[in-house]
This record gives sequence, C-alpha cells and structure tokens, in this order.
Amino acid sequence: MTATGMTATATTADARRRAATAACLLAATLLAVGGCAGQSARSEGNAPTPRAPRQASAARGGNSLATDACATRLQDLGGALLLYYAVNRRLPDKVEDLSTVPGAESAQLACPVSDRPYVYVPGGGLRAQGKPRQLVLYDATPAHGGLRWGLFISPPSGSEPLATWVTPMSEALFRSYAAGEGR
Ligand SMILES: [Zn+2]
Repeated sequence: MTATGMTATATTADARRRAATAACLLAATLLAVGGCAGQSARSEGNAPTPRAPRQASAARGGNSLATDACATRLQDLGGALLLYYAVNRRLPDKVEDLSTVPGAESAQLACPVSDRPYVYVPGGGLRAQGKPRQLVLYDATPAHGGLRWGLFISPPSGSEPLATWVTPMSEALFRSYAAGEGR
C-alpha cells in the first residue's frame, strides 16, 4: 500500500514536471525567447529538467501571455513592428503595412476571440497621463473576460531602442489611454 502511494506521488510529480516543461517549450516557441533547459531533452519524454523551474513558473505566473492566442498574435505583430521600425526608422501608417515585413506576411490582424480587427493608432499610439508607454494596437472589444489585450511601445530615446509590450487592460485603464489621446 505504501509502495502504491509512493508511485502515485512520483507519477503526479512527474506529470507536473512534464507539464511545466511543456509550458516552457510553448512559451519559448510562442515568444521566441530561448533558454529553456527542457528544450534539448524532448527526445524520450522522461529526461529530467533540472534548471527549468524558474522559467516555467514565470510563464505560469504571467497573465497567460504565453498561452492566450490573442496575446500571441499581438506579440507577433509587436515583433513585426520592431522589424518595420528597424528598416524604415518610423512606425507604419497602418497596421497592414506590417505584413510587408519578412516573416510577417501572414500576420493575423484580428482578435481570435471577437474576430474584430485590432485597432491601430498611427503616429505613436495613445498616451495616458503618468504612463510612460504608449498604446499602439489593441482589441476592439473587451472580449477576454472584460479585458482587452494591448500592444504598447516605448519610443526610442537616447541609447534606448524602441521596445514593445503586450499586456491585458481593464476598461478603466483603457479609458485612461483613450481619454489621453493627442496629449
Ligand atoms: Zn483579443
């Protein structure tokens, strides 16, 4: 009986570890950030992943950034935006221009949940008072349990390059950006 209990415990722990590795791999694939220790150990499926925990828990603790399909689309568009800026030294006039970026030809420009096209704000995006980042692309509706995903930028300044973030917004936060337009 004791042996059975131990086996069950070991199996659960193993399953949990494998799930963490899968999440880590998924995050690495979606976000194109390398460095998962589990990445090279996918051959037989039961190799230990000694150094994965920190990344795995970061992915799990995040706001489902790694697994939300809408966030993934915005992440991809954010990557295209950075490339576009690197080539053209300016932001695109319209979001469709991002599909001229190599690798982004088939970029998805609509939310997978609402099917509504993302709203792009040319000229550097919406600003909110007291907030350093600017909102350039966002969900047309709060389709994610009352939240909208948004792609934010921090404009290049001095030696700091253009940077992008994808984060969910409450309607209150979104309104503070919408109200700050043109500031
Ligand atoms: Zn969405």
